[in-house]
Amino acid sequence: MFERLALIGVGLIGSSIAHRVRREGLAKEIVAHARSRETRDTVLRLGIADRVTDTAAMAVTGADLVILCTPVGAFAAVAAEIGPHLMQGAIVSDVGSVKQAVIDDVGPYIPPGVHLIPGHPVAGTENSGPESGFAELFDGRWCIITPPEGADADAADRLVRFWQTLGSKTEVMDARHHDLVLAITSHVPHLIAYNIVGTAADLETVTQSEVIKFSAGGFRDFTRIAASDPTMWRDIFLNNKEAVLEMLGRFTEDLTALQRAIRWGDGDTLFNLFTRTRAIRREVIDAGQETPAPDFGRSHGKG
Ligand code: NAP
Repeated sequence: MFERLALIGVGLIGSSIAHRVRREGLAKEIVAHARSRETRDTVLRLGIADRVTDTAAMAVTGADLVILCTPVGAFAAVAAEIGPHLMQGAIVSDVGSVKQAVIDDVGPYIPPGVHLIPGHPVAGTENSGPESGFAELFDGRWCIITPPEGADADAADRLVRFWQTLGSKTEVMDARHHDLVLAITSHVPHLIAYNIVGTAADLETVTQSEVIKFSAGGFRDFTRIAASDPTMWRDIFLNNKEAVLEMLGRFTEDLTALQRAIRWGDGDTLFNLFTRTRAIRREVIDAGQETPAPDFGRSHGKG
């Protein structure tokens, strides 16, 4: 499908792409660049790239598909570096968890004749680094492709087919809409998890050892999400500010209504909400996003 794939950043997502591209024979050559020597050495040892380069510019030279797989906060600097070295006709994509910021940050560095087609595989685990990747990560998961206005339709189609061959279901969406959808399905839930685990850690009347001892009551499910990579999630909140603040506004309004229902002993309000939310859980299971089996999916399916 491609002559040369360049991966900039080879952590969980980058290495999973490399594993699968290798397995499917989707590129004649895989060239990878990572920031640290340690990661570059690991990539060579794992044998998931044909070549590893010291700079991002060297990696993209002659590549017909370039995928940025670093945290979103690094995209602008990477784009500035690779811009002058991109090959005519190449597709530049990414795997970032926010999409409008990618168009804003990377777009200005893409020369005419090179196609920027951002993407977001909604798949992941709480592990990071090149050794955490595996070829099946994207199987049955959604990958959202967000071509900017006026993007080349053939390039977008090629990227869609690429992700389908990696095992993903694909959907094409406007970048701003993607950011709103992911704000409520992923970003705000992560913020809530970070917050509740932080609140519990700061309590004085309940000890930390009690929190940990009795965590099976619900808390432990939040700790899984709150263990997600700090750099990646800092960058997501800084780069999806508007959509997250919009959804947080709605969330805090609804939370205040629940607080009021509890204060006034309004059991009907609580019962009705909990009944509606239970039905949503059923829909998530029916859509194949989760199974009712305990512990299933604890290490897959977020991001
Ligand atoms: P990761 O495992 O932490 O790997 C990040 C990679 O980027 C590493 O190779 C790292 O190199 C490199 N890197 C970090 N900062 C850099 C910088 N300033 N300049 C150049 N390279 C840099 O991350 P990941 O989980 O694969 O996530 C990568 C991207 O995928 C993020 O944009 C994230 O939003 C998106 N994503 C993640 C998930 C998920 O669940 N993890 C899901 C969907 C999308 P070193 O190892 O040398 O530091």
